[in-house]
Amino acid sequence: MIPIPNTQLIRKGVKKLLGTPLFSPVRSMYSGFGSILMYHRVVGGERRKTLWNDPTAFQPNLGISVHRDSFEEQMAYISDHYRCVSLDTFHDVLVGMESAPQKGEKPLIAVTFDDGYLDNLEEALPLLEKYDIPATIFVTPGLTDQSTQPWWYLLEGFINKLPEITVRIMDGERTFSCKSTQQKKTVMRILDGMFRRRSCDEQQELMAELYEQYSGEDFSLPEFLNWSQVAQLAEHPLITIGAHTMTHPVLRREGEEDVISQIQESRTVLEQKLKQPVRYLAYPFGDRAAVGRRSFRITEELGFSLAVTTRTGHVHASHIDDLCALPRITVDYFDTLESFQSKLAGVEAFVRSPFEPMVSD
Ligand SMILES: [Zn+2]
Repeated sequence: MIPIPNTQLIRKGVKKLLGTPLFSPVRSMYSGFGSILMYHRVVGGERRKTLWNDPTAFQPNLGISVHRDSFEEQMAYISDHYRCVSLDTFHDVLVGMESAPQKGEKPLIAVTFDDGYLDNLEEALPLLEKYDIPATIFVTPGLTDQSTQPWWYLLEGFINKLPEITVRIMDGERTFSCKSTQQKKTVMRILDGMFRRRSCDEQQELMAELYEQYSGEDFSLPEFLNWSQVAQLAEHPLITIGAHTMTHPVLRREGEEDVISQIQESRTVLEQKLKQPVRYLAYPFGDRAAVGRRSFRITEELGFSLAVTTRTGHVHASHIDDLCALPRITVDYFDTLESFQSKLAGVEAFVRSPFEPMVSD
């Protein structure tokens, strides 16, 4: 789950400014030589006309999906205006094995997907093939073999179904009412924050308690790729498989040994299953509250060629010193083609870090 910022108005204003010749140096200062796009899911069905903060809807995880039609528009746009490459090219440019695009040449773009949802294969791949766009899918072995629960979707399911929910907090219990949409949103915010402050073991324990308590509740969860589907994707010429830790923990909540094993083991498992090297990693959650310098250092020491966060930013030549902390541009369900274009032009990066064109830590 990722927070959707309330910056739409600012973005619109800044985009107008950035469109003027006066601001083109700012634009080039922020957009770097390329962008790594972050997706999670691509979904079909009816395209909902909805806002991220719609007061009438409880849709906490909708933001991490993109509708198939929006995804197609976005892929068509980048295939015209950018040079679509795999993460290998970003690595090679950063280490000087390949030159960065010069003035007048198309900037680079790489497409990435986190977690390993089944729709990456069913919905996204046909469109990647249609526009001949490479992509990296960061797979979490625990979600693939279903030994780890995606708590962000389980919480949504429980809160959506139940009139109230009782959760163990410290040594006591607290019951939250979740009858109205507003209450559901509030409870989701509280519990999401609570889960992000726990270690992975504690999260799974809490989830098991909720399951036991509300075992009669039935709701659908998104499907993840299974191992044969991951292997099928790994064989595809457009697809690279990357690691995303074993069980999707908040790495800041784990001890150093656990951080090492989460990262190392996920690569080992993937390499053994797929019989190919795994060079890239995406940090789960990936924001400043979830991951920091310690994990970047460990990832580098473990020999990953490159790793990505969810900090908002573009890739600059000076990221050579931060190969294991590259920012990305998040694409969400609420993006129009116009907001997508403005994100790529550097507007989002400018709005989020007005004094920091190059985001790393
Ligand atoms: Zn993830």
